[in-house]
Amino acid sequence: MSADCIFCKIVNGSIPAKKIYEDEDHIAFNDINPSARVHFLIVPKLHVESLASCEAQHQALLGKMLLLAPKLAKEQGLAGFKTLINTGKDGGQLVFHIHVHVLGGGNVPLKV
Ligand code: AMP
Ligand code: ZN
Repeated sequence: MSADCIFCKIVNGSIPAKKIYEDEDHIAFNDINPSARVHFLIVPKLHVESLASCEAQHQALLGKMLLLAPKLAKEQGLAGFKTLINTGKDGGQLVFHIHVHVLGGGNVPLKV
């Protein structure tokens, strides 16, 4: 948990989000500023800054995070979807708590 992190605050319930899934390791919620008809984020509960901060100890967490994408996309009614992980400021990352964007349902942009 990082005190100033908006996604940690969503994880601990101190700020609200439109949650679509939760288990012991991850949550998923709708993006507040959607770039497609369906646009949600899959977020590990553990505060890890970015993909670039991940190490071997995070392998299972990353695997679980990716495996949730097709499961939740299907639950959201998507036949296909795009996944996106922005990494670092130069990679377009705005929130420094690792997350996967899942986008679908038409007008899916190349970048978010
Ligand atoms: P990124 O550029 O990959 O770091 O994307 C961060 C994403 O988080 C953006 O698409 C934002 O719209 C989204 N976001 C920021 N704050 C919130 C929030 N409170 N609830 C839901 N999504 C958020
Ligand atoms: Zn965090």
